[in-house]
Amino acid sequence: MSAYVVGHINPDSDSIVSAISLSYLKNQIGETCIPARQGELSPETQFILSKFGLEKPLLKTEFANENVYIVDYSDLAQAPKDIKEATILGIVDHHKLGDMTTSAPLECWIRPVGCSNTVIKEMYDFYKVAIPKDIAGAMMCAILSDTVIFKSPTCTKNDTKAVKELASIAGVADFKAVGMEMFLVKSALEGATARELTTRDFKDFMMNGKKVGVGQLEVVDLSVFDNKKEMLFADLQALKIEGERHTVMLLLTDIMVEGSQLLVVSDDPSIVEKAFGVELENAQAWLPKVLSRKKQVIPFLEKAF
Ligand code: MG
Ligand code: MG
Ligand code: MG
Repeated sequence: MSAYVVGHINPDSDSIVSAISLSYLKNQIGETCIPARQGELSPETQFILSKFGLEKPLLKTEFANENVYIVDYSDLAQAPKDIKEATILGIVDHHKLGDMTTSAPLECWIRPVGCSNTVIKEMYDFYKVAIPKDIAGAMMCAILSDTVIFKSPTCTKNDTKAVKELASIAGVADFKAVGMEMFLVKSALEGATARELTTRDFKDFMMNGKKVGVGQLEVVDLSVFDNKKEMLFADLQALKIEGERHTVMLLLTDIMVEGSQLLVVSDDPSIVEKAFGVELENAQAWLPKVLSRKKQVIPFLEKAF
């Protein structure tokens, strides 16, 4: 029986490319795997797949009675609704351990590095499987995206090493230039609705029994949001009500200045103020040096909640 490889909801480039790269590796070592995705591709991911000529994974949101490999998360809040009726064969990830559990033994490759594709690159090395040029290029871009071109505090030596090796396989001479080209695509917001922006990279977490949603938009210049704050706040409020969330936040991250403007809609904003040691002004605060949701935001929120 074949298995699906699937990343988190509101898939980012790492989740999509991991589905492709892990499926290819598994197929080479004798397991039949099909890359899948739980949602639409972001403009950044479309850029990566078209640049390297790769097909997008199959859109699939129901996995009852299927075999599944989970990539780039292990939180139930980011999983398909029926994941408890699926057989999880393995998890490949680089986040905090979530609340998924299994009834049978599973394969786990979870490491504190900057990107799931760095872990998958190390799996290729472990199994001595050659990475095709197109997949190597996409894996390189996924790592540059997750590590914000090595600027994120989540970035490790393993990530920079993997990018250099993948760039050489893909025949990319200047990987930082490709990374910047990718972030410029990511920064273009024209034509996107408020909902597309708030949920483009949005994750829910359960914190002390309360549902907390945190979105992030990474751009090269925060001025793109100058006339959009009001519409973003209105949609964060709507997301809060629709999802019965206690708190909804959006990080507007400036990757050049290196910091994030935090927008907050909450039943108790003082928890957020306590988490980051800031005072909210018009439900906003500037968090200098904050680039990483997983390392610089979620742990502090969890502690405050
Ligand atoms: Mg991800
Ligand atoms: Mg990732
Ligand atoms: Mg990210």
